This record gives sequence, structure tokens and C-alpha cells, in this order.
Amino acid sequence: MKKLITAFLLLFFLFSCSANPISKIDNRISIVVTSFPLYDFVRAVADDRADIKMLIKPGAEVHSFDPSPADIIAIKNADLFFCIGGESDSWVDSMLSSIESSELKVIKLMEYVTPIYHEHSHNPDEHIWTSFENAEKMLDAICDAVSESDKENEELYITDKDAYKAEIMQIAGEIKQIVDQSAEKKIIVADRFPFIYFCEEFSLSYTAAFDACGSERDSSAGIVASLIDEVNALSVDVIYYTELSNHNIADIVSEQTGAEIMELHSCHNVTKEDFDNGETYCSLWRRNIEALRKGLIYECDS
Ligand SMILES: [Zn+2]
Repeated sequence: MKKLITAFLLLFFLFSCSANPISKIDNRISIVVTSFPLYDFVRAVADDRADIKMLIKPGAEVHSFDPSPADIIAIKNADLFFCIGGESDSWVDSMLSSIESSELKVIKLMEYVTPIYHEHSHNPDEHIWTSFENAEKMLDAICDAVSESDKENEELYITDKDAYKAEIMQIAGEIKQIVDQSAEKKIIVADRFPFIYFCEEFSLSYTAAFDACGSERDSSAGIVASLIDEVNALSVDVIYYTELSNHNIADIVSEQTGAEIMELHSCHNVTKEDFDNGETYCSLWRRNIEALRKGLIYECDS
């Protein structure tokens, strides 16, 4: 009899579990993204209607990422996987061919923008989100994919996407004003250089310690000397370093020239503190606005 009751209770328990509609929480779409800009854009579009997993942890080096077995399982079980599709994502194709998932939809955002190539490079620069026009195209592509997976909430996704695009356009407008007022229209980045799309969009010229944003961080004496010469020749007030950098080169150039150093955040990745504080692509660019104002409009006070 006891056994029978136990069996009955077990059945009842199982039945009530499955009958208990696993409601919205479990109906939410599951999304995996590689890096912070994608995380931020997907979060802006999907809000709390999706579970979003960011593979590259806050504070981690973005160019040498390798997925863990747990990451690969997460991708396999996801509805959508967003990546940039650039050099740093070279692991993606072989990983995808190793997993069997007919449900998974993969979106490479690089395919939605016009790529820019550095001199002597066969691969396009992958920091596409540093252009606001590209950010908008990325948001459109993300919104389309998410809506496709969850037709029911399409209107909500479009509303949230349009609101975020408006916020981005406002930032772009403010930066355009700053650039318009700048006599020199040039930035000096004494660091890696993930800003080629940004500079192209605002017709800014630039000098950077490194061509792009690879893992090289050691400076040659020649690079430092030429940066110092240029800062002196142009009487530049502010030189920039990028986020999560040791800013060694910027420090040396600053010591030698008296120029102030400021962070120009590419939104490539954020510190754990910024992540926990809920910083966004837009909030980070608002920080950059102040840094750009100081760095671009400097002839007024001299
Ligand atoms: Zn980079």
C-alpha cells in the first residue's frame, strides 16, 4: 500500500510539474553571443524576453578567446548565436561543423556592414561596431533574427530596437558637432587601434601606435618617438589609450610632451566593474564624448 501511495504521489508530482506551465521563463529564447557589443545590442533589443550568454567574460582579452566545452554546449542548445565573424572568430566555423544542431541559427554581423581593410591586410578590420551606422545595421539584423525566432513579440523587439537606435543617433549627432568644431580633425591613439570604422564615419584622421588591434602591445622605440614628434608638432592636448590597456605607450608620450592621457573606449570589452554596473554601448560612448571634446577642440584655449 505504501508503495502504491508513493507511486501515486510520484505520478502526481510529475504530472503537476509538467502541467505547471513552465511559463514565460522557459519560453524565452536562448541566445549566445561572443563579445560585449553583441551582448549589449541583443540586450537592448530582447530585453528580458531572452536569456543571453556572453562567451568572452568581462575583463578578458578578446583576441585570444577559445570556447570551453561548456561554451560549446551552450551554443549547441541555443536558438541564436551571434558573432562578428572576423579574425578573432576564426574558431567559429570549425566549432559549428563539430556540433549537430538543426535548430541553431548563426548570425555573423560582419556580413551586414561594409568591411574596411587596413593597408597590407587581407582580413577586414573586425571592430565594425565603432561606427554608429554599423551599430544601427547590426541592431536591425539582430532584431530581424530575434523576431524570426519569437514572432509573437516582434512588435516589442522593433520598439526596443528603434529606441536604442535613437539613443545611438543622438550620440552620433553630438560627436559630429564636436568634429565639426575641431580644427585638426585628428586623434592620436597611443595604443592598439580599434577605431578605423569610427574615424571613417566622421572623416577623422588618426595616428596610432599600432595599425589595428592585434595582441601586439610592445612598442618599438621608433613608434614612441614618432608619436612624441607628432604630439609636439600639432601641440596636441590629449592622447588616447584604449580600455583594458596598461597605457604604457601613452604614459611615455605624455611624460615627454605634457599631453594629457584619456581613455577612448571601443566597447570591445568592459571591466567586471563596468559590466556589473550595467554600462552599455551608449553609456560608454557618452564617456567618450567628453574625452573627444577635450581632444578635438583644443585650439580654443591656446
Ligand atoms: Zn580588437
